[in-house]
Amino acid sequence: MSILSATLSRVSPSPTIAVTTKAQELAAEGRDVIALGAGEPDFDTPDHIKAAGIRAIEAGRTKYTAVDGIPELKDAVCAKFRRDNGLDYSRAQVSVASGGKQILYNALMATLNPGDEVVIPAPYWVSYPDMVRLAGGEAVIASAGIETGFKLTPAALEAAITPKTRWFIFNSPSNPTGAGYSRDELKALTDVVMRHPHVWVMTDDMYEHLAYDGFQFCTPAQVEPGLYDRTLTCNGVSKAYCMTGWRIGFAAGPEVLIGAMRKIQSQSTSNPCTISQWAAVEALNGSHDFIAANNAVFKRRRDLVVGMLDAIEGVTCPVPEGAFYVYPSIAGLIGKRTAGGAVIGTDENFATALLEEAGVAVVFGAAFGLSPHFRVSYATSDAALSEACDRIGAFCAGLQ
Ligand code: PLP
Repeated sequence: MSILSATLSRVSPSPTIAVTTKAQELAAEGRDVIALGAGEPDFDTPDHIKAAGIRAIEAGRTKYTAVDGIPELKDAVCAKFRRDNGLDYSRAQVSVASGGKQILYNALMATLNPGDEVVIPAPYWVSYPDMVRLAGGEAVIASAGIETGFKLTPAALEAAITPKTRWFIFNSPSNPTGAGYSRDELKALTDVVMRHPHVWVMTDDMYEHLAYDGFQFCTPAQVEPGLYDRTLTCNGVSKAYCMTGWRIGFAAGPEVLIGAMRKIQSQSTSNPCTISQWAAVEALNGSHDFIAANNAVFKRRRDLVVGMLDAIEGVTCPVPEGAFYVYPSIAGLIGKRTAGGAVIGTDENFATALLEEAGVAVVFGAAFGLSPHFRVSYATSDAALSEACDRIGAFCAGLQ
């Protein structure tokens, strides 16, 4: 009998991590590899936030805290939701965990029974379907392709909802496409959810502050106050605050749900890192000036990458509203053969051959539930991006 659980067989290892590992192996063999797979800013954590972490250590703030966050951080989270999103929450409606990932996981573990369904627009962040399956639920994938700017239509959402639906997971700006929903586009989706009172909304607003060209971010409970009592608004400091390694995510929603999430966390990991919580207080309450400066760099890189990739024959690269990803289509390359003799039957074949023959690591679209595409993270230097796009162009030009 296997030591491994049946639940584990419902889950796949992360394909994004597999790509990174393969790129590292090739680099270790001395190959010149440019990695465009990372899901984190290349910028360092700002000094004033680091200093708050150092102060916490020096002040002996190194002990256990309340399971789902210190009151000071919960207050900072409440202030953030009021300031940025016009949403009022009390401390009792706030949960803090070890990253946005744990927030989502706790919420799914706390709410799903076997057979419960969760609607996930594709392309999706790789962890959503697997977290749903780990929690015993069924992921119902609703396609949102390039023709709608990678945005789910109200009709597609309506068609995916059944009596078994517990959650609709919403993510804007999105990983992997960077697509951001306008207020009207989001309102059209919340109108659908309003017609189905048994469906709750889990909104993953992790990329809220990474938006360009004046894009106005909005979140479901703000656009449709009627959903306030059945929305979990999730966010965190990982991306915009360049704090991926500090592991702080947070959410606000109905007290009964927050209490259930606390129970799961109390019997699994307990409080998120105390030092990181104090750093996150500074991140939320302190100066945010660095975000605009970082975004100017991200926007420049986005424009560089979109311009170079969209110019390649067979590749179509839409301009995303936010995050730090682009998600080009390679529909025009399927069926071709590489200079090395590989046939590009799928986007996975494309990514494998691109890595082996051109030394560029990207993540293939099937990993995110929508093919034939690949994801490029542009959270790396302009020089590396420019060289990588040149190599992708030369690789594609060599296809027959
Ligand atoms: N949500 C999305 C859409 C993400 O892309 C990520 C990280 O890649 C997360 C959540 C998780 O963030 P954290 O590192 O805070 O767990």
